[in-house]
Amino acid sequence: MTENIRNVIILGSGCSGHTAALYTARANLKPLVLEGHEPGGQLSLTTLVENFPGFPDGIQGPELIENMKKQASRFGAEYRNGHIVSADLSQRPFTLNLGKEPVKTNALIIASGASARWLGLPNEQALIGHGVSSCATCDGFFFSGKEIAVIGGGDTAMEEATFLTRFASKVTIIHRREEFRASKIMLERAQKNPKIEFLMDTVVEDVLDVSKKEVTALKVRNIKTGKAWDFPTSAMFLGIGHEPNAKMFLGQLDADKDGYLVTQQNVLTRIPGVFACGDVMDRRYRQAVTAAGTGCMAAIETEKFLEEKSH
Ligand code: NDP
Repeated sequence: MTENIRNVIILGSGCSGHTAALYTARANLKPLVLEGHEPGGQLSLTTLVENFPGFPDGIQGPELIENMKKQASRFGAEYRNGHIVSADLSQRPFTLNLGKEPVKTNALIIASGASARWLGLPNEQALIGHGVSSCATCDGFFFSGKEIAVIGGGDTAMEEATFLTRFASKVTIIHRREEFRASKIMLERAQKNPKIEFLMDTVVEDVLDVSKKEVTALKVRNIKTGKAWDFPTSAMFLGIGHEPNAKMFLGQLDADKDGYLVTQQNVLTRIPGVFACGDVMDRRYRQAVTAAGTGCMAAIETEKFLEEKSH
């Protein structure tokens, strides 16, 4: 049955997964990439990427991720649709359950990313990339001189709002209650910023205008008074948190209080042969280039691990 045991399986096909695939493929390990729930990861949801080195005029997120896949495939990385339902990491080879027959692997690279939380509004998905965004660093630049709304009351919302004042004429933080989850220092920084205003006790019920393929206003409602109105804005940035896609490993691998995998020496989990890279273990940087960097580290560690095991 040894022919069914893979050298390495990579979970996830975002920036970190493709980079890990490229490096392990070039090391002749014939990696199998399981593409996951959101093939291409968060980059496939953005438009122009201007901060990935090597593209002086920027590159569209979906094109960048497709190029990465092509590059890894050229060296023999194999891609398969699907995501795992459960995993048994208690012994090697590790067993991954895909819902059909299980697959076994000598090493595992978890690059399953983190998914931005969305509000679930009727028009929200249709306007992603057209004024609805979950990444100020990626998309803020497109709203120079415009008015922007940021949703949330935590550190992400404060940080995004503060960052967006570099471009926007005004940023309004819309938060569903009166108290903030944000740390004092980040809240104060936002409060002191003359370009930031706050709209409290207010929920967003929809975003307009799909027919124009751009954001023109938010349908909002004050939860205390019940008053509802259209709030004009050119963009809606979500700062309501991310969820690492690591639930299937909880109990087997260490995770922090929010479910991000905890690693040592960058990409090592507590189980030898299991590595984690990209946003599933990185709550701090969350950039395409840092995800690619840790994907490379995980691949090099995998190579070393398999080499040592073979002797
Ligand atoms: P948090 O969970 O801290 O905050 C999320 C915010 O979004 C809350 O105010 C919450 O409201 C609001 N929210 C959640 N769901 C909805 C919804 N459906 N509708 C409306 N509002 C909603 O997430 P963050 O991403 O802000 O932070 C996560 C962690 O990362 C924290 O530990 C934070 O300190 C850390 N972080 C640190 C940074 C730094 O140090 N530079 C930068 C960014 C994050 P409510 O309060 O009512 O629940």
